[in-house]
Amino acid sequence: MARVIAISNQKGGVGKTTTAVNLACCLAQSQKRVLLIDMDPQANAGSGLGIYPHSFQDSIYQVLVAEKPMQEIILESQIPLLHFAPARQDLAGAELELVSAFGRETRLKEALEPIRASYDFIIMDTPPTLGLVTVNALTAADSVLIPLQSEYYAMEGLSQLVKTTSLIKKRLNPGLEREGILLTMFDRRNNLSSQVEREIRSHFPNEVFAAVIPRNVRLSEAPSHGKPALIYDRSSAGSQAYWEFSQELLAKYFQPTVVEKPKTGGRSRRKSEAAADSTH
Ligand code: ATP
Ligand code: MG
Repeated sequence: MARVIAISNQKGGVGKTTTAVNLACCLAQSQKRVLLIDMDPQANAGSGLGIYPHSFQDSIYQVLVAEKPMQEIILESQIPLLHFAPARQDLAGAELELVSAFGRETRLKEALEPIRASYDFIIMDTPPTLGLVTVNALTAADSVLIPLQSEYYAMEGLSQLVKTTSLIKKRLNPGLEREGILLTMFDRRNNLSSQVEREIRSHFPNEVFAAVIPRNVRLSEAPSHGKPALIYDRSSAGSQAYWEFSQELLAKYFQPTVVEKPKTGGRSRRKSEAAADSTH
């Protein structure tokens, strides 16, 4: 039965979509059956996989609003074992249309029931807002994974999210757990990043993943090539960090397997990459 994980943080631009696409890719490359669901009208997860609106008809909007079976919108991706449920801009309209709908918060949860057994992981990318679409994702989820940008206001966004999940837990999804906190866009040369890391780790002991995602230009370039970072540049610091993170997550649910770690190319990061990073 799939583990259903919502990637969420009401703060914008913290790395939700980047985490969703790259985690889904790394899990599939680890021989797990993965479904990535785009729950954001910005539809960035699709571009990250090279799946664009002209290539599909129906999307998650039809599932939420018209109760179309999930199986009918799921697409294959360029990565074996990785399936994708797409979104387009019309998903923003679902917020209003769902308001008066019967079972409005549980539409996605019900839609996932018939397909849960077909996957090992269902990963959901959510928007930086707390509307009915995000509520559907959090209600359908077993857990919420929180990407946290290593910067000054990180804690603020986090306390907001903790409040939101407690509310969802109380009213709609008593089983909702916290999968953990993932530090993103980490800059080792910046003292603030390390300070934020210390603070978060002391406030949430055992909840912060050991793997930390560095600020890395390959991660921001990859979507414009329609590829997850692991496929775009396997040896980049960013894709290696997402790989480490995925293995840490996998180890919680599966015995270690013999999947070979992608080649790192040693410690010698490409010059162009290091130069591009230092521009941040
Ligand atoms: P939104 O709230 O708008 O949905 P988000 O939380 O999904 O945003 P992303 O889209 O993943 O955030 O990331 C925001 C921007 O930062 C993107 O341009 C992305 O390519 C870039 N980015 C994400 N993670 C990293 C990283 N570790 N290093 C460098 N750039 C990154
Ligand atoms: Mg996003």
